[in-house]
Amino acid sequence: MPKKRVIIIGGGNAALSAAIESAERGNEVVLVEAAPEKFRGGNSKYTRDIRYAHKEDEFTSGSYGVDELKNDLLSVTGTLENPEVAKMVLEKSEFVAGWMNAHGIIFKKEIKGTLNLSRTNAFFMGGGKVLVDTYYNLLKKLNVRVLYESPLTSIKFRNLHIENITIQKENGEEVLQADEYIFASGGYESNKEWLGQFWQEGVKNIKVRGTRYNMGKPLKLLMDNGAILCGEEKAGHMVAVDSRSPEYEAGIVSRIDAIPWGITVNIHGKRFYDEGEDIWPKRYAMWGRLIADIDEQKAYVVIDRKAIGKFMPTVYKPFSAETIDDLEKILGLPVNSLKGTVDNYNKGINKESSDLFMWSSSGSRIPKSHWAMPIDEPPFFAYPLSPGLTFTYQGVKINKTGRLMMIDGEVDNGFAAGEIASGNILKKGYLAGFGLVIGNVLGRVAGGWEND
Ligand SMILES: Cc1cc2nc3c(=O)[nH]c(=O)nc-3n(C[C@H](O)[C@H](O)[C@H](O)COP(=O)(O)OP(=O)(O)OC[C@H]3O[C@@H](n4cnc5c(N)ncnc54)[C@H](O)[C@@H]3O)c2cc1C
Repeated sequence: MPKKRVIIIGGGNAALSAAIESAERGNEVVLVEAAPEKFRGGNSKYTRDIRYAHKEDEFTSGSYGVDELKNDLLSVTGTLENPEVAKMVLEKSEFVAGWMNAHGIIFKKEIKGTLNLSRTNAFFMGGGKVLVDTYYNLLKKLNVRVLYESPLTSIKFRNLHIENITIQKENGEEVLQADEYIFASGGYESNKEWLGQFWQEGVKNIKVRGTRYNMGKPLKLLMDNGAILCGEEKAGHMVAVDSRSPEYEAGIVSRIDAIPWGITVNIHGKRFYDEGEDIWPKRYAMWGRLIADIDEQKAYVVIDRKAIGKFMPTVYKPFSAETIDDLEKILGLPVNSLKGTVDNYNKGINKESSDLFMWSSSGSRIPKSHWAMPIDEPPFFAYPLSPGLTFTYQGVKINKTGRLMMIDGEVDNGFAAGEIASGNILKKGYLAGFGLVIGNVLGRVAGGWEND
């Protein structure tokens, strides 16, 4: 006899972690996923690494304590929206890599390269696609029923208790009932109508980096039933992506990391922000947002030969030219605009230190504070940039047992995990590799992980 019947809404890392944890505890688990089987796995299928507190281990180059992780988190998010949930996730993050490993995920040895994450983050073999496939295979062994193409369409509440939910099937609606319900359905980043409230017309230029199935319906239903919200409402985590990327499912390869190594100009050929303020990964997320706020939501990062090899290789080839004048023409920028900007930037460079980090440029109203290498060695290159939305921040408030917090109190049989609840920890801003950890911990807590 199963102990309880549990329905999990979603099909990414948080839902899968919850399903495994719950099934391993002897419960009967049903997972309802909006996407068809071949597109299952939400945004989680695009991932590749986790950031977690750890002592020395074989996956990273050194230890990374809970306090240091907490400080890094605070440096991007400002304040902790829900300190008790944040504390719990930070502390339990220590157990995540071990649990993943024990459930079939193979980590690479400490990774080197352009990302500078070898101490804080561990990378897994095959990336997110293998991660979700491994977990789905495990669900089969654990007799978890998976219903694909079954989006949640309504939730029936009686006071602070969920009585049942309704899903949409090909042949009509179906009502499902359980003892407990875990909402792990991501954010609303694919819902352009919802995002249009914040970005109006500009929303059409936003590239969605992940799944097209995160339309936010479960979140909306919880909001309509009195859920307390947390996390910043407007848009979400946005990075700079190549403008030639598809509108949805742009993935990780669309990201352009070249910004600290050159200058970034708007469609008028002018710089608009300090490209050297900080380096990947802590600050990379602000560039999408900056681009979303400028004319036509379009920018260009311009570099020269010296910058090649300093950032992650790109999927699309950059535009290139032997002179800045020619590059300006290729990009269709106003005559002499880019030329003037590059000249001023080069003239203002201070290279007194032998450390590239200390090189700055004060050649224009907007200084570049670090890594100000001159742009003077052909060929010159440029990538066109658009805002690339990774996920939204606003979600539902939970307590440290993962239970949903409503205006009138806590739901006795409703939980939330993953992106739909990440606003409890990440009000705004993002720390690379922490999304999966939030999903794993909150998913497993909702699935019954008491304490180890
Ligand atoms: C390109 C990219 C790269 C990333 N890289 C990393 C990384 O390396 N490391 C990291 O930690 N984080 C990374 N992230 C962030 C990470 O993907 C998320 O934090 C994490 O995957 C969220 O997991 P989740 O399970 O909450 O949501 P998701 O994985 O997005 O899953 C949500 C699921 O809910 C389903 N769903 C939606 N609506 C409904 C409905 N009405 N009914 C039923 N199901 C529904 C969706 O189909 C989907 O399967 C990346 C994100 C992107 C887009």
